[in-house]
Amino acid sequence: MGDTITRREQLEKLKPLLRQVLELMGEDPDRDGLARTPDRWAAELLSCTDGMLEDPATHLGDTLEVEHTDYPVDGLGEMIILDNIEFTSMCEHHVVPFRGRVDIGYIPDPESRALAGLSKLVRVVQMFAKRLQVQERMTQQIASVINQYLSPLGVIVVVQAVHYCLIQRDVEQRSSLALSTARRGSFLSDNNLEEKFQNYLQLRMDTKEV
Ligand SMILES: [Zn+2]
Repeated sequence: MGDTITRREQLEKLKPLLRQVLELMGEDPDRDGLARTPDRWAAELLSCTDGMLEDPATHLGDTLEVEHTDYPVDGLGEMIILDNIEFTSMCEHHVVPFRGRVDIGYIPDPESRALAGLSKLVRVVQMFAKRLQVQERMTQQIASVINQYLSPLGVIVVVQAVHYCLIQRDVEQRSSLALSTARRGSFLSDNNLEEKFQNYLQLRMDTKEV
């Protein structure tokens, strides 16, 4: 269905349905404040989930070969970290947002010699965030595609998020943070690597000073 129906058609079909949802909530969809809500709501739903239409190959298919960058070959085997990638996703159980940050570390393999452009890692996070999602699965998916396309020696992904489904229902849980991790390759076999990764994150400079 997703392949055959255009974006415009999706929007047009969603609007009357969402108008009906408002009615069933006991609202008057024709009152001033709500008159254009179904339009905006439909657009928002589609935009929050358009990562589903993306193929990870568009982001990671063209990995950088070490030979074509200034990255020194001796550096293969050293950890590269991109931290604090912000994301907003949508909990698939309650269809409300969860948002937070992703930290990624990976170790390029001297064999595959593949590196990822840093912006590509951000794209991969956004691609998996922009869909109906659960945090634990998103964490695994990010690690798996990096593992698949870069064939690094190892990769670790840590996701921390606040879940609005938790906050909305229980005010006491406002400061509750969910943390999930995914490890592949050497991060599974060598616990020191994870500790190193965490230590590097601690070293983080204050970006406000830059
Ligand atoms: Zn939820």
